[in-house]
Order: sequence, then structure tokens, then C-alpha cells
Amino acid sequence: MIVCKFGGSSLADAGQFRKVYQIVKSDPGRRFVVPSAPGKRNEADEKVTDLFYACFEACEEGRSVDHLLDRIFRRYDDIIADLGLNLRLDSEFEGIRRLFGMRLGRDYFVSRGEYLNGIILANYLGYEFIDAADVIFFRQDGAFDPDKTDVYLTEKLSRARNAVIPGFYGSAPGGTVKTFPRGGSDITGALVARAARADVYENWTDVDGYFSADPRRFPAARSIPVMTFHHLRELRYAGAAVLHEDAIRPVREKGIPIHIKNTNRPDRSGTRVVPHLTEKLSGALGVGGRKGYAAVTVEKDELRRSPSFFRTFSSLLERSGVQAELLPCGVDSVTAVFPRHALTASPAALGETWREALEAESARAEESVALVSVVAGDLTGAPVLRARALQALADAGVSVIFAEQSADGVHLILGVREEACADAVAALHKALFED
Ligand code: ASP
Repeated sequence: MIVCKFGGSSLADAGQFRKVYQIVKSDPGRRFVVPSAPGKRNEADEKVTDLFYACFEACEEGRSVDHLLDRIFRRYDDIIADLGLNLRLDSEFEGIRRLFGMRLGRDYFVSRGEYLNGIILANYLGYEFIDAADVIFFRQDGAFDPDKTDVYLTEKLSRARNAVIPGFYGSAPGGTVKTFPRGGSDITGALVARAARADVYENWTDVDGYFSADPRRFPAARSIPVMTFHHLRELRYAGAAVLHEDAIRPVREKGIPIHIKNTNRPDRSGTRVVPHLTEKLSGALGVGGRKGYAAVTVEKDELRRSPSFFRTFSSLLERSGVQAELLPCGVDSVTAVFPRHALTASPAALGETWREALEAESARAEESVALVSVVAGDLTGAPVLRARALQALADAGVSVIFAEQSADGVHLILGVREEACADAVAALHKALFED
């Protein structure tokens, strides 16, 4: 039994709907389908969800939303007409227009992209339509409610033969619609797969799965046929963003594999993400770079010898109010690496506070750091691979501020100056995948 989620570009117009139909109907196991809202039909086009956000802003500013709503509704009408469906959404459109007039909450409006697309897809496939507001739940404080969702969703799906459940939204107590973060239809798909006890969660998009680097920037990037959930999380941290981060846990906990596939090239094998592999993967899987970090370092002779050092240092970290993502250490120094946007004090000021509290000799702050990553099957057993990565950076003239390899050998993270990030990633990709 397969749960499939189709992204916005897979449902951007009638032509794409036809491809989705072929895919769904080619395997009777594809019983539950989770659609996004219509995405871009070409580079210059707009996503329906973005148009709904624009409508909401216009409404807040007291401007008319009629022309924007007309544009949105025409997209759905065009799909319906092109597919020759016996379906009219006029009363839905009128309801949405009326509620805009009454200024209902933002999440309600932006969720309508998925809601309307779900109705059309259900009609086209001949599947039951299940409104996500009836089966996906959030708490009063806005947090997602996994337990209630699992109970209602499991029950509802157990009574459905085939169904379409729109992505991205659910409801909070009192019935108000609430959305996941942007890109959240992936999360709905994972929740449906979990509740349906699916054998596989297929995530259909417009790329052939995960690659060794972003294929738009690296034409020589290699696709990754199979990896574990662990690799997927590490690749995400490295910057690869095919799937929403919160879509991993619901299926991972139940051991349901994810299969990323390309709607436009369904014959391609895509990327399978599985709980375990019988044999460890060898070689490098991918490289990536993420900017936006700051590193604060304090130095003092025998710093870490002091028995209270770790206690004092953790309370300083806690007081900074920001989760440090890495803590590279030397014998006489320790560094904390933070996402810069989350810091309330400047990195230099933070360093100074720590220097005083730890009675350290000096403090240093690097304001613009990028984390450049190599994700691999097992770097501990591949010293040549790591040497090649470091040599590539040296050849490209990139200096490494700090380096950390996870002890499981899956991730090597190198801190470099932000301006060197692109060169570093290019050099790593060339050395590990192109030579
Ligand atoms: N349509 C929503 C967005 O654009 C959710 C999704 O596509 O997953 O973010």
C-alpha cells in the first residue's frame, strides 16, 4: 500500500494532472494521495499559495483582492475545463471571496490552495475527498497534535478505499484552520503514510531525487539511488532541501521507507530512503554549504582542565538563549558555532562576556562563517576520501577555520569564511564526484 504526495509543480496545470493520473492509476496500491496547491507552470509564473498570501496582505492593507482572487480561481477553472471534468467550484469560490470580506485568519486562506486542488484531484481520480481539517489537528497553542491526528486519521483511512487528503493544513480547537510551515504538504504526506501503515511513502516532485549537490548549479551532480534516514538528516543539515525536515520523523518512527520520484520522469529510479541498509554505503554521498553562522572562541591555558569548566560553559551557552550547533574544542580553547540570525548580542560581545566569566585570556569572534559539509557512507573507513576533501580545499585556497567529523563517519563539517563557501563546495564536488 502506497501513500503518494504530489508537489505543486506536479499539479500546476491539466497536463501535469494527467501525468499524476497515469502514475496513480498504474498501481492499485496507490490508495491515498496528498496534493499540494498548483505551483509554477514556468519560471515567470506564480504559485497559487503565494497568490493567496498576497491576497491576505492586500486585504490587511484594505486593498481590493478581487483581481487576485479572479486570477487564482481562473487557474482552477482552467484545469477543470482542460480535463473535461463534470465539476463546478463556483460556490467554493464564492465562499472564499465572502470570508475574505469578513477577514478570517491568514492560515484559512492560504490553505485554500491545497483544499481546492484536492477537490479537483479527487474528482479526476474518482477518489473520496477527505478534508484535512477533519483529520489533522493542532493544539490551542498552535503546536501540532500528533496523538489526536494519528487516532482520527487512522480511523478515517481505515474506512476509505481510496482517498485524496489535501496537504499543508489541519484544524485547531474550535475548528479554525491552521497550516504547517511552508512546504508542509510533505508533512501531511508523512502523517497519512504513518496512519495508513503504508509500505512506502512516495514523494513525487520535479527532480530525480537527491543528488551529490544541487543539480541546477552542478550539472555533473550524481543522483543518490538509496540511503538511510540518518543520511537524509545529515544531507538536510548540509543544505539539501528536497523534503521538508518535519516530514522525516513520522515515517522514520514506523520504519516506512520514503521514495522520492520525479513526476515528469517517472521511469527514473529516484532516491529511496530506508531505515537500514544491510551493507554500509561506501564513498561520498553529497556535499553542501550553508552560510549564516557565527563562531565565538575563548582561549585560556588549561581551559578544559578546570573541573567546573563544562558546567560554567554550559550555563553560559544556555544564557546566550541560542542553541549552539557545533562545539569544536582545542586543548586550550573552545568554540561555539551559532546560527547568526538567532543571536541577540553581537558575537564579539558574547565572546567578551564569556572571556570574563571563564577568566579566559582572550576571546575571538568570526562573524560570517559558512558550514561546508561532506556526507558519506563511512569516513572513518575512508581516510583517502577525507584527505582528498581537505586537499581540494587547500588547492582552491580555502582556509578551514574548524573541522569536525562525526564519530559514525557520516558527516565532515568544515567551517570556512562565508565568501569562500561557493568555491569550497565547488572544489569538494569536483574532487569527490567529478574527477
Ligand atoms: N502550498 C504550500 C506552500 O507553497 C505547501 C506545500 O506546497 O507543501 O508552501
